[in-house]
Amino acid sequence: MKIDSIQNGIVIDHLPAGSAMTVYRYLKLDECEGSVAILQNVQSGKHVRKDIIKLDGVTELDWDILGFLAPDCTVNVIRDSQIMEKRHMNLPEKLVDVIRCRNPRCITTVEPGLKHIFTLANRERAVYRCIYCESAGSRH
Ligand SMILES: [Zn+2]
Repeated sequence: MKIDSIQNGIVIDHLPAGSAMTVYRYLKLDECEGSVAILQNVQSGKHVRKDIIKLDGVTELDWDILGFLAPDCTVNVIRDSQIMEKRHMNLPEKLVDVIRCRNPRCITTVEPGLKHIFTLANRERAVYRCIYCESAGSRH
C-alpha cells in the first residue's frame, strides 16, 4: 500500500524501529474497521531505521496513547488522497487507563473499578506518576 493509495486515513511515520507492534497493541488496531499496513525497519537517513503504520479508512486515533508511546513520531492525516494535516505528537499531560499502577498497596489494586490515572511528572525523562500513590509508571 502506497501513501497515495490511501484515500482517507492516517499514516504514522517516524516510529522508532521495533515499536510498531507495541503501538498496534496499545491502539487496538486489530479491532479497527479499516485496513492496516505495518512497515518495519525502514531505512530513514543514513544510519536510522524507523517503523511506519498506514491506516486506510481510519480517521481517529487515541492521540494521547500515541503521544505517550511515540512522542517523536509524525502523523499525516489523509483526506481524498491528499495530506490534509501533519501532526507532531507530544507526551500527554495525563493518561487514563493506559498504563496500570503496579504498587500492590495502591488503592487502584484494592478497588478494581477505579481508573488508573497517571500525570506527567517529568517531560524530559518521560516519567509518569500515579495520582493516588505517586508510583512511577512506564510502558513496560
Ligand atoms: Zn498507584
